[in-house]
Order: sequence, then C-alpha cells, then structure tokens
Amino acid sequence: MNPTEEKEARELIKKIVLLNALRYEGKATPKPIFSKLLGEYPQFRKAVKEVAPIINQTVQEINSLSVEKQLEIVAENWPEALVEEKTEETKELPPLPNAEKYDKIVTRFSPNPDFVLHLGSARAILLSYDYARMYDGSFILRFEDTDSKTKKPKLEFYDVIREDLDWLGCKWDSEFIQSDRLPIYYEHAQELIKAGHAYVCVCEREVFQEKSRAGKSCPCRVLSADENLVRWNHMLDGTYGEGEAVVRVKTDLGHPNPAVRDWPALRIIDAEKYPHPRVGSRYRVWPLYNFSTGIDDHLMGITHIIRGKEHLTNQARQEYMFKQFGWKYPETIHYGRLKITGASLSKSEIIQGMESGLYKSWDDPRLATLAALRKRGITAEAIHSLIVDVGPKPQDVVLSWKNLYAYNRKIVDPTAKRYFFVQGPTKIVVSGVSDSMSAEIPLHPDHPDMGVRKFEVTPKDGKAEFLISAEDVKGIEDKKAVRFMDLFNFKAETVEDGLVQAVFVGDSYKEARKLGAPLIHWIPSGSGIACDVVMPDASVVKGVAEDASKSLKVGEIIQFQRFGFVRVDHIDDKKLIAYFAHR
Ligand SMILES: [Zn+2]
Repeated sequence: MNPTEEKEARELIKKIVLLNALRYEGKATPKPIFSKLLGEYPQFRKAVKEVAPIINQTVQEINSLSVEKQLEIVAENWPEALVEEKTEETKELPPLPNAEKYDKIVTRFSPNPDFVLHLGSARAILLSYDYARMYDGSFILRFEDTDSKTKKPKLEFYDVIREDLDWLGCKWDSEFIQSDRLPIYYEHAQELIKAGHAYVCVCEREVFQEKSRAGKSCPCRVLSADENLVRWNHMLDGTYGEGEAVVRVKTDLGHPNPAVRDWPALRIIDAEKYPHPRVGSRYRVWPLYNFSTGIDDHLMGITHIIRGKEHLTNQARQEYMFKQFGWKYPETIHYGRLKITGASLSKSEIIQGMESGLYKSWDDPRLATLAALRKRGITAEAIHSLIVDVGPKPQDVVLSWKNLYAYNRKIVDPTAKRYFFVQGPTKIVVSGVSDSMSAEIPLHPDHPDMGVRKFEVTPKDGKAEFLISAEDVKGIEDKKAVRFMDLFNFKAETVEDGLVQAVFVGDSYKEARKLGAPLIHWIPSGSGIACDVVMPDASVVKGVAEDASKSLKVGEIIQFQRFGFVRVDHIDDKKLIAYFAHR
C-alpha cells in the first residue's frame, strides 16, 4: 500500500472496528473486521499482510476505550453509520486462518471424475472458489483420477464436472489431471525411498496389519534404502504383480490411530485388466490418495485446503510425508457434514440406485446431484447463498429441501413469468356468455413492463368452453360464485361424467370478492399446449399449459400459477415438458 492507501485503510478499519465494538458491548474481535474489510473493499485483498497488523492494533486501541467514548467517536465522524448499522446484516465468510502469511492464496477443488457432483461437493467448490476470490488468489481444479480399479474414472465425468463448475460460476484459474503426472509421483517416491523415509512392503496385507496393530515393524521396513530401491524398480518393471508390493511411507508405529501407521503410498494395478480411461495401460504403478494429493498440494502451492472433517486422518498421514520432504503443510479448514433430510448425498447409494434401475439418470429429480437440481430450476445463486450462510463451520448441518427452496424462491420469484397450467384438465361449459371477450393478464404481477398474455374467448350460441384443473372441480360445486382469474364470475350447476355445466353471473371483481368467490385459473377449450410436469418424486403430472407458454425456451424458469415454479426442459409444437422446482 502506498501512504494514501494506508491512510484510507486505517480510517476504514477504525470505523469497522468501532461499529463492531458497539455491537458487542464495547469489545471488537479481529476476525469479522477482516471479513468485512475484504468483503466490502476488495482493493485491500492484495494487501492482507499489511492490513492484518493494523486491524489487531486498532482492535486493541478501541477495546481500551469506554462504550461512551466509542459512541462519541462514531457520532462525530460517521453519524450515518449509527443508522445504517441497524438494517444491514449480510453474511460473509469468516477470514481464512493465517491468510496474512501468504503472498497469494491458492485453493483447490479436487474431485475424482468417477461420479457427478452433488450438493455436498458444491460446498467444497464454492468455499474454495469464494476464498480464492476474497483474497484475489487462485483457484485450481485438479482431477484425482489415479484409481482405475475400485474408483474407476469415466471420461464423460471430466466434462460433466467442468460443466457443473461453470454452472456454479466458479471459473478455475488452472487445471491439472493427476493421470498426466505419474512421472512426478515416481520421482518423489524414489526420493523418499532413497532417504529411508519409505519402503517397499511385500508382506501380505493381513500380516502387515497384524504387525502394525501391535506397533511392530514388518521385515521390509528395516531393509536398507538400496534394497528398497531394487524392490521399487521391480514394482515398475513388472517383476511384482498386482497386490504383491506396495510403497509405504514411514510414520510412527506407535501412532494412536493404526490407520496412520506406515500408510500405503503407491501400489500396482494390473493395467491390462484395469486400463485407465485416459492413459490406458501405460502405467502399472499408481499413487494412492494421500500420496498424490499431498505431493500436488505442495507442488501447486496450495495455501488453504477446505474440505470435510472426514479428511482429518488423511492430514495426520500426510504430515509425516511433508516433514520428510521438509515441506510446510497447508492451512486446513475441515467443515462438518451437510445433510439434506430426505435426499441421498451418498455416492454409493446413488450408484446403487442407478445400477438397480431405480434412477434412470444422474439428473433424476429425486437426487441432489447438481445436474438434477439444475434440471429442476434450482439456481446456482440459491446454492451459493445457502453455502455461504452455512459457512465452513466444523459442526454437522442438517438442512431440509424447504431451506434450499426458500433461497431459490427469493431468486426466481421476482423474475419468473406467470402462466396458467391446468392439471388433469376438465371441461366446463359456461352458458349466458353473450359477447366475445378478451383478457390481458400480466406476465408478472409486480412488473407490468414484462408484458401481458392475451386470451380470446368466443362464445357459440351464448356458450363458452374452458378447461379447468380436476382439483378445482371439487371446490366449486357448492359455491355461490367462482371467478375465473381476470375474466368473469360463474356458478357451477352440474358436474357429470367429467363435464361441468355452469352459468355466467357477471364480470365484476368487486362482486366476486363480496361473494367470497374462489379464484381459479382457466384455459379456453381448444387452446394451449399439452404439458407434462415431472415432480420431485419422479411422478408426472399431466395437463395443458396456456397458449402463451408455446413461446417458452428450454431452460426458462417460470411459475405455473397456483401450482409452483417449474423449469422448461423440452418444448416442441406438440408438447411442453417441465420439471417442478417448488411451490
Ligand atoms: Zn512388509
């Protein structure tokens, strides 16, 4: 920062600290000050190192003042802030730990492309992305595709994942694919073996585990580095077959968690039997998760790893290797589980459902995959707000679909065009309609500028025919009057064999209100387009959508009045297919 910028920073920090102190009985804390400053004044994201000490110093100074004195300073310098502060309460992410220690913040999202992404993955993506942006840093997408045997990557998913990130608005600054980096892992494995920090274990798995559980070394651990290098070469040249040798990183045989003791770092996969979708049978020795992830996090300069707390054991494993290489382990944030009641976020359960034929595709509306949510008209913005509000806290969070819908409704309601959709269409004949009439109904009640939908009603021999929802038929039989929204009032006389006979009773809206007439939607008989709405439980509601909806485009999110928000998924001359989002 130059002197002018520093002066500006000091002023702003003083103001933010004072307001924070006033909110908490005169005692400010540095963390929220940091978030607020960087959130509202992005120009300081590049100067995190210089800003941090100013914040700490200011907090100390201000906290030593009385609340009266603090109020006085604010009233004198920023009187408007005392009013503002009451209304504003936007959520921001808490600051990253030790951000000021790094020149550039680097985060990553590292999926295995063996599966599509779901709402749980969105958390890792959005938090990592947002933090990189918050500090003007860099966000890396890294495909961790080194297991062609049990978690076999699929070519289609590399692109599906890229699409999902694009849709979430999380543009990555660079991309890596681990299956391109085998020589790098080999080089590091060799270095560790040479230094005596890793060894090639040829023990049977059970034999090793038994020793390990007892805190004892297996015979391979004590061999010399040279002997282990020979074994390493035998892994590479095919002397050992699949399952016959594994490179282990030395840790502490007395570590309280046996899973941390001498963890496996590289193994042999029968490359002919399990070819890799990208590199085929070119390699037979493959790194295991902790090894390739750890090496890459270091080489790619990842400063902050943001991931689920189930990775805590992995951190314990990897820290040994980082020490052996003389590297510093990145900062970590481990968040708790995110559960949505009634939605399966478990990869294995979803895969099982796919295999058994329960789900037809990855975007089945019953799933919480990003593809399914997108198809239903749940917006990326809604998911983003939800994730930021939940934040990276370590406690488990249980949400319901309703929570997500509330976020989405806030986003789609102000812009979604309104249309009539008649489910289970039932014919109604209204007599006593003498003249042709037309109706113009706004596409959005709050936005006349969005235009109108036009309806023409032409009676024949004083009778006009309409379609109404089967649901509404039940509610109109015993009513004195019912109103067709924005058209006229009628009274139902008979309901027989799915046909309603009714009589016109006037067109006054006032009169309808006085009579307590229910408002129902309608479509002139013979108009409209056949419409299927796929519901969240994958059932299909069949009906007819009004004429104006014929010009809708795939991807538009609209509201079928009195029915709910839907996303147009397919449209042609004969049919409209929509997916239901929520009420
Ligand atoms: Zn061994």
